[in-house]
Amino acid sequence: MGLVACTRCTRAWPLGTQTCGRCGHKMVSRDAHSLQKVWAFWIVGLMCYVPANVYPMLKTKTLFENDESTIVGGAVELAHHGAFGIAFIILLASVAIPLAKFWAVAYLAVSVRRPGAGGNHARHLMYEVVEYIGRWSMIDIFVVAILSSLVQLNTLANINPGPASMFFALSVIFTMLSAQAFDSRLIWDKQTKDGTPLND
Ligand SMILES: [Zn+2]
Repeated sequence: MGLVACTRCTRAWPLGTQTCGRCGHKMVSRDAHSLQKVWAFWIVGLMCYVPANVYPMLKTKTLFENDESTIVGGAVELAHHGAFGIAFIILLASVAIPLAKFWAVAYLAVSVRRPGAGGNHARHLMYEVVEYIGRWSMIDIFVVAILSSLVQLNTLANINPGPASMFFALSVIFTMLSAQAFDSRLIWDKQTKDGTPLND
């Protein structure tokens, strides 16, 4: 519409205005470094995700044995004990969702550079889903925290979070930052530049 909104006080000005006349904030129509930030956070998130799966998530100490289990190993063990529901939730929250998120953010960041092959509504929906599920990825950390505090009460057994829990939390934080750095308006920019109709 030829307008640009101030990101601080939301007052709209004609496109090309350098500073906001109301609050003095610098005006930018688009975050020029959006994709750069998305990829930077994405890579750090992925780097943290690897040790999160390699190192033990839980360290279990009982009177007779010391046990360490990774995320996947722990889920398999839970399934062996018949806790299929919990095993499923853990696999979903710490393997399926994070991997789907890495893929979705990468797909969005790559696809906005390509001239619109349509499907912008689908892309926007994907972006909203990624934003929404971000907070649920922390379920695994909550499971570890609850288990540790519950079992700590018993002096004969003791469960501590392993190094993977810190990497996992960092990975979730960085993928959330990555998704947030993505300027969703970029999805729609290509469409108008190519002259294709706004309703696809
Ligand atoms: Zn302003």
